[in-house]
Amino acid sequence: MKITIDHHRIEAKEGMTVMEAAAAAGIVIPAMCHIAGVHNHPSCMVCLVKDIGRNQFIPSCSCLVEDEMLIQTHSPEIRELRREALELLLSDHVGDCEAPCQRSCPAHMDIPRMNRLIAQNRLQEALDLVREEIALPWILGYICPAPCEKACRRGTIDLPVSVCLLKRITAEDDSRRGNNLLIKVPRTGKRVAIIGTGPAGLSAAFYLLRSGHGCTLFDQHSDPGGMLRSHIPEERLPRHVLDAEIDVIRNMGAEFRMSARIDDRRFEETLLHDFNALILATGNEEQKILHDFGLILDEEGIRVSRTTFGATHPGIFACGTPASKNQMAVRSVAQGKNAARSADHFLRTGKPHGPLKKFNSSFGILRETEFETYLVEGSRDKRTEPAGGLRSGFTIGEAIREAARCMHCDCRRQEDCKLRNYAGEYQAHQKRFIGPERKMITKVSGHPMVVYESEKCIKCGLCVAITSREKEPIGLSYIGRGFDVRINVPLKGSILEALTRTAEKVVQSCPTGALAWKSK
Ligand code: SF4
Ligand code: SF4
Ligand code: SF4
Repeated sequence: MKITIDHHRIEAKEGMTVMEAAAAAGIVIPAMCHIAGVHNHPSCMVCLVKDIGRNQFIPSCSCLVEDEMLIQTHSPEIRELRREALELLLSDHVGDCEAPCQRSCPAHMDIPRMNRLIAQNRLQEALDLVREEIALPWILGYICPAPCEKACRRGTIDLPVSVCLLKRITAEDDSRRGNNLLIKVPRTGKRVAIIGTGPAGLSAAFYLLRSGHGCTLFDQHSDPGGMLRSHIPEERLPRHVLDAEIDVIRNMGAEFRMSARIDDRRFEETLLHDFNALILATGNEEQKILHDFGLILDEEGIRVSRTTFGATHPGIFACGTPASKNQMAVRSVAQGKNAARSADHFLRTGKPHGPLKKFNSSFGILRETEFETYLVEGSRDKRTEPAGGLRSGFTIGEAIREAARCMHCDCRRQEDCKLRNYAGEYQAHQKRFIGPERKMITKVSGHPMVVYESEKCIKCGLCVAITSREKEPIGLSYIGRGFDVRINVPLKGSILEALTRTAEKVVQSCPTGALAWKSK
């Protein structure tokens, strides 16, 4: 047979689906509920294409090719239909891609995953994870007002998880072991000047060094730390903690030039000529000079792009206090990181780049009737108070106990969930077709490794087909009728009995987070 897809003439075999014929010719059609070799129900409709001859939209994963078919896979109209299909799926989808704590952390730290690692006494891995987003975890473990704890779901049941102290112990434990951070990436030979050694400047240096760039930090004061040293008293932030985290950055290769005033001559002769990029992360003193060099100032300070932190002058970035005043240290730390990532992108490609915003499903408030469901994955212990007081923080035993209270509100497929990825790509809105009443959340967690959350299921039937093909004695099945149909274990069996040999295959095949590994 000969068919035409997007103006390409393609040989196709009888019995092939349109999607298979397209794939054989290297044309990728998006799909959620289809994987090669497994029978599925076309339920997501993201694979819609247009049969031009019939002037119809068809699901390409199930429609078979016909001779001289004329198929179009991309157009604004098709894009809109796919977006609508996604929005319909999302309208009764109940789940949080990212946990509320992570969404409310200005540095976007992956808190539930940190908690899982701490609960398993894997503190080094927990610290590595924390440092993906927070350069100064020990310092912030003392001074952060913890907006994440205000958003913590556990707070609706009893008291929030003590996230801030948990983060603190990962860094404290590391310092007890005397570890030094080694930089494993090749050096780029590029040099960045950072003006200011407060939380934003230190954070920017940390991430630039990790990307292989050289960093020199300038500060008019004699000791680094900026507002962390000048505005926060020793009682709140012990100086050995501040010095230790600055030493981590020094040991990574940062050069500190203290008691250095940046005047016009120095700015032009030294900074602009000797460095490949410049990050301003300090108070207001340098702003006049910046103005002289064409940087636009307003009453808020230097004007920079809100997303890339790039100023009007290429290669100059601003974060922390000059970009916006009176902010939490964690916000400065986050801005320093984002400015560093944008500067890194600029140094590699010539263009700054802001952080990517991903789609986030969220269901809002946990109902009282759902407390039991959520507590299935968290210990019922009361919030752990450190026996030695707040300043001493947790012992490792206390930290393990407290981390176990986390209820894992995040979705453990958030990185590879096709629904999330396509919702982002097609800019779908979750609330467009939302009904008046959301479904009640269920978590089936009787399997040691797998958790099943039916309200995230799109009823593609892949898991049903796999458990049947692999001859599971019980397996999974469609239960109920019409709108109320759901996937579950038949005959009131347990999920452990349903997935005796197919756990890995069904988790891998599920296009959403309905079936996921617990430990992710
Ligand atoms: S299943 Fe996908 S879209 Fe739903 S909460 Fe999980 S990651 Fe987000
Ligand atoms: S219970 Fe855990 S995952 Fe849920 S919001 Fe609190 S810290 Fe985050
Ligand atoms: S649990 Fe996953 S694989 Fe099974 S029907 Fe639902 S979405 Fe499809």
